[in-house]
Amino acid sequence: MTDSDPAANTWEKVASILRRSVPRQQFETWFRGMRLTGMSPDRATFTVPNNFLREWILRKYTGALRAAMREALGSDVEIDLQIADDGDPGRANDAGPVERAANPGPAGRERDGRRMTPTLNAPASGRTGHAPSPAYGEWDIVLNPQYVFENFVPGPSNNFAFAAATAVADSPGKTYNPLFLHGSVGLGKTHLLQGICHRMMERRPDMRILYLSCETFVNHFVNAVANGELDNFRFRYRHVDVLLIDDIHFLANRERTQEEFFHTFNTLYNANKQIILSSDSTPAEIPTLEERLVSRFKWGVVARIDAPHYETRIAIITRKIRMHGMVFPDDVVKFIGENVHSNIRELEGAVNKLVSMAHITGKPIDVDMAREALRDLVPPAATRVSVDGIMRCVADRFGLSVRDITGKRRHRHVARARHVSMYLARRLTEHSLEEIGGYMGGRDHTTVMHGFQRIKTETQKDSDLAQVVDNLINELSR
Ligand code: ADP
Ligand code: MG
Repeated sequence: MTDSDPAANTWEKVASILRRSVPRQQFETWFRGMRLTGMSPDRATFTVPNNFLREWILRKYTGALRAAMREALGSDVEIDLQIADDGDPGRANDAGPVERAANPGPAGRERDGRRMTPTLNAPASGRTGHAPSPAYGEWDIVLNPQYVFENFVPGPSNNFAFAAATAVADSPGKTYNPLFLHGSVGLGKTHLLQGICHRMMERRPDMRILYLSCETFVNHFVNAVANGELDNFRFRYRHVDVLLIDDIHFLANRERTQEEFFHTFNTLYNANKQIILSSDSTPAEIPTLEERLVSRFKWGVVARIDAPHYETRIAIITRKIRMHGMVFPDDVVKFIGENVHSNIRELEGAVNKLVSMAHITGKPIDVDMAREALRDLVPPAATRVSVDGIMRCVADRFGLSVRDITGKRRHRHVARARHVSMYLARRLTEHSLEEIGGYMGGRDHTTVMHGFQRIKTETQKDSDLAQVVDNLINELSR
């Protein structure tokens, strides 16, 4: 009777789900020897043949494993991985590419004897929803298994960044160094950085990769200074082949860390090691970033990611729905694409919400359900401010017409109104610079950026202008 071994049955189910999400060859390599050996309501224990497999699975497949368990059991469980009898769980990481990479000789251990931080860290906690459970707390954080290049949908808004990221992953230190990716929140920077890590772990297991958030870098530095462990700190950051730091704008206003990072950068750069950074703005726009860092960040390639165009949004939505093993009617897909503009995380949120609505109600998704779901997701204030609304409001305030703002006249007063519109559009909407330029008479993104910067600087010096801008913001967000 098959019911006699529920664990074996569950494992069979989980394995077949995993086979759908993991390429066959990888499944055979990593999961074939795995068994589900223990189950409690909130924990599943798996057994794998050796420690190398254990570490690798924990690092690369925790998310996939959890998702498969969730699908098989209908609830979330913590996951434990144990080593089969002849394995030796006490000796961590004594084989395999990951650790060879992380532990280049005796220096791979920290002085206090703790294991050195693994090759891969992810940005500080929880944001990806894949922080590891305390059961394997020796890893700071694992990569999100979904953030691979294969799951990244390219389009005009991110093509260049995507191409640069893949080029760097394929020949680190050789093509674009440093690679500096920037774009506003939720547009795929972290996804691309982790994509690089995944690709390199797969193809270049000899490389020592260090991936972390800038926040973690700052914290490590502060602690190292406080504990007199700067040597350790330096050793760790300066002996890698690839250093990826997510959200580098976090260095703003942190002078000492900037100084330290400057030296880290130089050491790695001079040794032809690959440096990859992400930020929410261009190097020059990071407040108080030292000039010498700004110029270094521009040495390689600076690639901007913009909000996705409509077609790309549709492609992303379709992809995400398919990843849930579902299909939505075309009008629903279009509805989401038309109503969620700028932030891919929000697109995902919309899809997830609809997927769970479909599960809960058991009904097919239609546009009404989508409207209902999106109402909660998109805050009304954010949807209400449109670029047109901004231009109308600004034109009113300046005694002009919208045509003046979209037109070509360069009179000071008109130019001022135009710049204020650009500033407000960038601050109050989530349109890309390109889109804003499009609304404003087909201007290009650098013009919009210039207008934005100008007002940003001038409001700091000119309190009348600051007042005008404040009033406009109040009026627009009412
Ligand atoms: P950022 O780091 O720029 O704030 P993330 O990389 O965290 O943004 O992306 C937010 C979410 O959107 C992630 O779940 C990511 O997988 C998804 N995403 C972003 N860009 C794309 C894309 N081009 N194709 C598919 N998914 C994407
Ligand atoms: Mg990010």
